[in-house]
Amino acid sequence: MIGAGHAGLATSRVLAERSIDHVVLERGEVANSWRRERWDSLRLLTPNEQARLPGHRYDGTDPGGYLTMPEVIAFVAGYAEKIAAPVRTHAPVTSVTAAGGGYRVATDNGELHCRTLVIASGACNAAHVPAVRSAVPDSVTCFSAHDYRNPAQLPEGGTLVVGASATGVQLADEIRRSGRHVVLSVGEHVRLPRIYRGRDVLWWMDASGVWNQRYDEIDDLTRARGLPSPQLVGTPEHATLDLNTLSAAGVELVGRLSAIRDGRALFSGGLRNLFALADLKMERLLDTFDEWARGGGASDVRVGARGAELGEPERFEPTRVPERSRLELDLRSGEIRSIVWATGFRPEYGWLHVPVVDHKGHLRHDGGVVADAPGIYAIGLPVLRRRKSTFIVGAEDDARDIVAHLARHLDETSSA
Ligand SMILES: Cc1cc2nc3c(=O)[nH]c(=O)nc-3n(C[C@H](O)[C@H](O)[C@H](O)COP(=O)(O)OP(=O)(O)OC[C@H]3O[C@@H](n4cnc5c(N)ncnc54)[C@H](O)[C@@H]3O)c2cc1C
Repeated sequence: MIGAGHAGLATSRVLAERSIDHVVLERGEVANSWRRERWDSLRLLTPNEQARLPGHRYDGTDPGGYLTMPEVIAFVAGYAEKIAAPVRTHAPVTSVTAAGGGYRVATDNGELHCRTLVIASGACNAAHVPAVRSAVPDSVTCFSAHDYRNPAQLPEGGTLVVGASATGVQLADEIRRSGRHVVLSVGEHVRLPRIYRGRDVLWWMDASGVWNQRYDEIDDLTRARGLPSPQLVGTPEHATLDLNTLSAAGVELVGRLSAIRDGRALFSGGLRNLFALADLKMERLLDTFDEWARGGGASDVRVGARGAELGEPERFEPTRVPERSRLELDLRSGEIRSIVWATGFRPEYGWLHVPVVDHKGHLRHDGGVVADAPGIYAIGLPVLRRRKSTFIVGAEDDARDIVAHLARHLDETSSA
């Protein structure tokens, strides 16, 4: 196993249940990504009741709240201890090659040979920054979502935040609260209310079964795997953080950043269409929830007890289109002193010397069974086997499926 995040640990626990001997190699410490690669104020956007791993769940007093980073680290590290996961920390995997019907795995401090390998190295190892970054004038300081920690790091003056998914809206909000003028460049996005009919919108995703939709039932899987994260934030107030909230607070909305020419940032027009599409998709999702609540869902045991508490169906104000939105911004004028690139994350497989990564850097796999490399599996990637795969709450079902396949592979290759 490569990686001791929640996905690797959940898989380790399921392997142990089947008495499959294994080791978890971790380049840093357990929960390394949460320790090293997140900004200071971040809280999970999934509610505490969804902090569930095989044999472990949140048992605090605030099931509807959202864990802070120290709490997430304690949750994941506590899990590793509880299940006595065989983790070797500070063991970065530097190379994996095919060898003798299995794989040779090299780390900084030695090599080992394995018959099967689970890649649980994460989906967000690098903050993706588009190539247009190279045209930013030197007078503007750039931060990626991995470099950014808090607003005190930023130079005084305005900030351009590029990207309006979960990271972008959260950082735009925080930077605006620090007193800076914030321009938010918005591309395709997923709008969601924090609370719907009195319940967390992610409770609906879970309870209604939307999150359980399997990868082989999704029409356009490539698109589903590339969808931006929803515009959500976890706060004690359970606040909705959408573009209406941000523009009401003074954040300036502009279109997608299409180019930087001669120091001028150029933005696409068409905010109206972009907003209308996100509003429509949100409404369709809410329709799905309502339909589920009206039908079989209401008799579901989890909702049966609580169904009566559900509020009435709601619909939300459409995203307000600014009267005028700038199509260009002179980055040399001094108005903008920093850019925060909230333009997504990517996995990194530079150490994987088996031809299983496509030209876009994605692992080629069928539901976590890596193509053309018998015995290699993946876990923790977006929509790996279900819509919920990348979230903590999604790890258990995927780990059980993957380990069942892996166990069959071991049996078959042993008998051969
Ligand atoms: C900003 C942000 C917010 C998120 N918020 C939520 C949320 O609210 N709720 C939720 O459920 N999910 C959330 N996620 C998604 C998801 O839970 C994380 O991406 C999560 O970290 C994925 O778990 P993982 O175990 O697959 O990967 P990771 O936690 O990234 O673990 C991978 C591990 O592999 C190690 N590793 C990588 N390469 C090597 C190597 N070559 N050798 C050895 N070890 C290696 C890393 O050090 C790391 O410890 C968020 C993600 C991000 C980026």
